Amino acid sequence: MSSIQASRGTRDILPDEVGYWQRVEAIARDILTRAAYREIRTPIFEQTTLFERGVGEATDVVSKEMYTFQDRGDRSLTLRPEGTAGVARSYIDHNLSAQGGVQRLWYVGAMFRYERPQAGRQRQFHQLGVEVLGSADFRADAEAIALATEILQTLGLKDLRLDLNSIGDSSDRQKYREALVAYLTPFKEELDADSQDRLTRNPLRILDSKDPRTQTILDQAPGILDYLSPDSQRRFDRVQQLLSDLGIACNVNSRLVRGLDYYTHTVFEIQSDDLGAQATVCAGGRYDGLVAELGGAETPAVGWAMGLERLILLLQQIQPATPSPVDFYIVSRGEKAESQALTLAQSLRRSGFITELDLSGSAFGKQFKRADRSDAVACLILGDTEAETKTVQLKWLRSGEQTAIEQTALLEMVDKLRQQIFRLRDD
Ligand code: ATP
Ligand code: MG
Repeated sequence: MSSIQASRGTRDILPDEVGYWQRVEAIARDILTRAAYREIRTPIFEQTTLFERGVGEATDVVSKEMYTFQDRGDRSLTLRPEGTAGVARSYIDHNLSAQGGVQRLWYVGAMFRYERPQAGRQRQFHQLGVEVLGSADFRADAEAIALATEILQTLGLKDLRLDLNSIGDSSDRQKYREALVAYLTPFKEELDADSQDRLTRNPLRILDSKDPRTQTILDQAPGILDYLSPDSQRRFDRVQQLLSDLGIACNVNSRLVRGLDYYTHTVFEIQSDDLGAQATVCAGGRYDGLVAELGGAETPAVGWAMGLERLILLLQQIQPATPSPVDFYIVSRGEKAESQALTLAQSLRRSGFITELDLSGSAFGKQFKRADRSDAVACLILGDTEAETKTVQLKWLRSGEQTAIEQTALLEMVDKLRQQIFRLRDD
């Protein structure tokens, strides 16, 4: 019988790799917590209409990429393709606005899109994101962007580019859309098929086309920045000024639009040249229209999402995987010794030591070999003699130095052991 493999576009994150993930999550959690952002966890599936309304039916995500299914109660459900719509739904559902002030939220989790799998593009992937709900202040935009760059920098990633644009409010965009359509229509037959289709459905997305011929046509197209109202322009200037005050370099890219319909004003992307075709690590912007679109009160908001697979591809290029350290490896043989070994392991773990108990029951020689391979700092050995006398042999694996010690005495000298282990690990 052939074995079952992981589904196309999904990946296992094996223990050797998981350290990267834990590090990213720990650093992000730390930085976001210090900025008074709080974590939110929303369901993995939602009603399909949430994404149709919240992301927009004309987007690629909704029109081509969603995992939608009928459940046994004949409801149309969709595995979340992104995090913002669910967070906004939850904000409305639980009346979080009633708590007053601004809600600063962050999340991390799996997202699902039916796409052609390739490096940095999967069908199940992970995003870490923030949403700031209830603030129209441009400092919220700058703060959110600053937190994204802070996380990437703390992780040690350099050579990232921040592209910034403003897509104005809906009336600016309406005017621009008309100008863009008027410019592109005479070239309609020369555009790639997707762009022809978008000309009526979602013309701004044509700016995203990777097709070289479409790109050449776009070179002369009007730019959105010429269509901003004075208010929108002022807002954009302020965000740029704040970023510059923070020492964050950015590049104004008037071609930058976002695939999701709910964006307004600020949009941005953080890209890397070390990722090939899938260059965008983090993307986001302001979405003042979303909460009202979903039936809530008018709520200005800003947020971003990072693609963790792409982030980790970058980390793997600059840092080796961190091995999982072990402090004590315990080998034992004989019924009494084996049971004492388990008790001792639990006590050491409670004292904070990473303790691996050999469960093989094999001969001492084989257990010692495994102890050597385990990379533990020290080995604890219990045989019949040790079991009778409630002692244990403590062997420092690097030097081979070995002493017998009472089990209770070992547990009493935890501070000294800890220092010794730290010192040996640093060597
Ligand atoms: P792309 O242009 O690469 O398709 P997108 O505009 O669809 O990206 P967003 O919806 O803005 O992406 O999602 C934010 C981030 O999530 C992306 O910048 C990327 O890092 C990551 N991401 C999006 N789709 C995938 C995917 N299928 N696999 C892995 N990461 C993804
Ligand atoms: Mg996409």
